[in-house]
Amino acid sequence: VSQYIAVDIGGTHLRAAGFHAGDLHPVRIARKPTQAPTIDPNPQPPFERLIDLIASIWPADEPVTVISVAAPGPVNPFTGVLMKATNIPGWVDMPLQQKLEKHFGVPVLLGNDANLAALGEWKFGAGRGTMHMVYLTISTGIGSGVIVDGCMLVGARGLAAEIGHITVVPDGEVCNCGYRGHLEAYASGTAIARWVEMEIANGKPSSLAGGKPISAKAVSNAALAGDPLSIAALERAGKYMGHALADILHIFNPSALVIGGGVSQSGPLLFEPMRKALQERVFNPHYLDDLVLLPAAFGDDAGLIGAFALGAHQFPPAA
Ligand SMILES: [Zn+2]
Repeated sequence: VSQYIAVDIGGTHLRAAGFHAGDLHPVRIARKPTQAPTIDPNPQPPFERLIDLIASIWPADEPVTVISVAAPGPVNPFTGVLMKATNIPGWVDMPLQQKLEKHFGVPVLLGNDANLAALGEWKFGAGRGTMHMVYLTISTGIGSGVIVDGCMLVGARGLAAEIGHITVVPDGEVCNCGYRGHLEAYASGTAIARWVEMEIANGKPSSLAGGKPISAKAVSNAALAGDPLSIAALERAGKYMGHALADILHIFNPSALVIGGGVSQSGPLLFEPMRKALQERVFNPHYLDDLVLLPAAFGDDAGLIGAFALGAHQFPPAA
């Protein structure tokens, strides 16, 4: 039996796992920090760390079909070039596919981590059985992927499905990407925490007042405990999510919205305002007829399982 090797390159950790076809329990799995410890006098570069990690799980007695990689940034799936990796300085226009193929001598596939997380949810997780699915992960940023007519949308240069960077307020607040007014600048965890800090600075009462830096998790907990400002923050984020998702419904008409990421743990305090804004914004109520909102099945494993899904999809096991 051959193995599929899946790799997730995170800003903080690299992970690699070997899978058998049709089985989500890895044969072997390993992880290590993306960067060498800062005290190391001769820090090993991230690419060498990645090579070592993959080699550490390489099966001794089984062939490898493919290595598939979830990468933290825009990738061109046709050339296998990672355009820019979030949180890995120096990884710009990195020919990752070519370099890994040369080293390991097996085919290598590359995908954007959020797109692959969508693929993983669709093949193995919350979106199984649907043909039209939109996936969002809301944490410090907003990642997304779209399954349209039973295919993962990638676009001409692999840049499709960046729902976090839809403009919701022209010339609005600055987004993590540097441009203004994007959804991520209003509904990500970073944006939620920043808004609460600003309102407190403006004199609004809140159980979170007191000068400590505020996290999205703290806002979520305070909202669940009844803090009006924190509830308003999630309402505001949910409203902008609904406005952006109404546009997404108009374009893709999905039957499932799969939502993951830390901020989605806020539950109804976020999703009820989102649902209401969606209802107000779709121009035909039938967009909502068959639409189900589902929590993502995979948390931190989403990228790894998505990479496995890509490998198994492109290189199906011999029947
Ligand atoms: Zn942006």
